[in-house]
Amino acid sequence: MEEKSASAYMAAERKPTRVLVVGSGLAGLTTAYLLTRREGFEVDVFEMGDSPALDASSISHPINETSPSETSFQRIDIPMRSFTPPYYPRLSSLLQHLSIPTTPQNLTFTFPLLHFPSNFHSFPTPTSATSLPSFFLELVFLFLCYIYFTLLILLPYSLPTEDESLSDWCHRWYIPEKFMTQYIYPLMGAVTSADATRVGQLPAIDVILYRRRSLLSGHVVVTGGIGCVQAQLVDRIETTQRGRIIFNRRVVGVEDLNTSIDPSLQDGVKVTWTERMELGMEKMATAWYDRVVFATTPDVVAQCWKKADMLAGIPVWPVEVVVERERDQDGDTKRKMLNEIVLTDDGAAVHYIDNAISVTTRPYQRSSSLSSSSSSEPSENGKEHIATRYFTRVGKSIPAREIIRKHAILYPRRQSWKRETEMAGEKGEEGEWTCGENGVYVVGGWCWDGMVLLEGCVQSAENVVAALVFARMLEERRGEMGL
Ligand SMILES: Cc1cc2nc3c(=O)[nH]c(=O)nc-3n(C[C@H](O)[C@H](O)[C@H](O)COP(=O)(O)OP(=O)(O)OC[C@H]3O[C@@H](n4cnc5c(N)ncnc54)[C@H](O)[C@@H]3O)c2cc1C
Repeated sequence: MEEKSASAYMAAERKPTRVLVVGSGLAGLTTAYLLTRREGFEVDVFEMGDSPALDASSISHPINETSPSETSFQRIDIPMRSFTPPYYPRLSSLLQHLSIPTTPQNLTFTFPLLHFPSNFHSFPTPTSATSLPSFFLELVFLFLCYIYFTLLILLPYSLPTEDESLSDWCHRWYIPEKFMTQYIYPLMGAVTSADATRVGQLPAIDVILYRRRSLLSGHVVVTGGIGCVQAQLVDRIETTQRGRIIFNRRVVGVEDLNTSIDPSLQDGVKVTWTERMELGMEKMATAWYDRVVFATTPDVVAQCWKKADMLAGIPVWPVEVVVERERDQDGDTKRKMLNEIVLTDDGAAVHYIDNAISVTTRPYQRSSSLSSSSSSEPSENGKEHIATRYFTRVGKSIPAREIIRKHAILYPRRQSWKRETEMAGEKGEEGEWTCGENGVYVVGGWCWDGMVLLEGCVQSAENVVAALVFARMLEERRGEMGL
């Protein structure tokens, strides 16, 4: 071990650890917030957009159009930010800590033959496409399949194996093809913004644990919209004066100082970014940070940080979200069932919010010209177009999960002791980067061992912050001991 004097370490101890967080979604803001609560950290958040990502794509829409003088506005979260508290323990505890309430969201899923209330808040009803006898037959079929499926997800011996995909598990347990393709896949497709092929490839254990924990819980949303969470986090980050959020900065490269070649160098990470200026100009800049935390999708990490190029193996795809207003032939607003979600097996989901606003979310074919827009133009389908937004969805499959397990941080907050001990033995190949090495970390909805949802943002942020705090404490103790 290289010898350094105790006094040099004591000086270093007083110097704050400078951390750059790349991205201002829930994962980035939570990481920055948790770090700025601790002594000894200074945090910059770089966001390539011009506002924090968490609420950047949401829209406000009038909730009373009949009398313009009384019009007030409601925030619609785009994308949807719905969750079931038992599957989201850390998100729920963050909201509690921020004193942010949630509101139950009684969703009704519409399948080809029936409307199904997700929170069991009403009885299933037939769609207009079905006759009463077929509806009752379908109801019996659905009831039997539902009971069978629920038993399977509750009983321990029917749990999927580690390398079993959802499609394999459904076949192993003889789940009727119709129940699989017309109910389970469209439902999970809406949760993951994925088509049937991608849903079938999901690790079965992720889906089963998600369904099991969400079983008796209704969906909820943040009261007042996800913007309330963003406002609190941003405010708290900035009032500590240990953190700042800087917009229009896109990180393009990250390099570590190779201390194995020159041990006299302090470890640190060189960050290169482009900065958007006025008149569409861009300038490039670099700076050194002690640590960098990527809070972006894995493709961005792979592009910016050469040692993490294996993360390019995790599937990502674009998702289009179109907000429209439904009108009938007389131009009047058509009122639909509140919070109805019409599901299809190509992963598209049409969510009817109040006031006849519909939000259609669908996986999209990659094109170089995807840009978000807002307008009040009539759409081709006769509806009034309000906004179109694009997102990148991160997918999980068995191979993708292996990459995440080996290289992204997965601290043991796991489903069972057995899985924890299995995990503890897993490590990247000799010489391959794993999260935290060389001062580079990753957080995000995908950086945990579960579905790619908001819970992963909070769990991974907590884990990385714990690792950073621990590393700093260790450095201080070593310094005190003159090591
Ligand atoms: C359509 C859709 C519906 C969803 N519905 C739900 C739901 O109902 N419930 C749920 O729990 N989850 C849902 N999710 C998943 C959840 O929203 C995401 O997992 C979560 O928001 C990811 O947050 P994040 O902080 O990891 O990243 P993001 O929110 O993606 O933030 C990343 C940020 O990094 C910025 N960035 C990227 N590259 C760079 C760069 N090079 N330099 C600087 N900044 C950069 C981006 O601009 C972005 O602002 C949904 C996702 C989508 C797409």
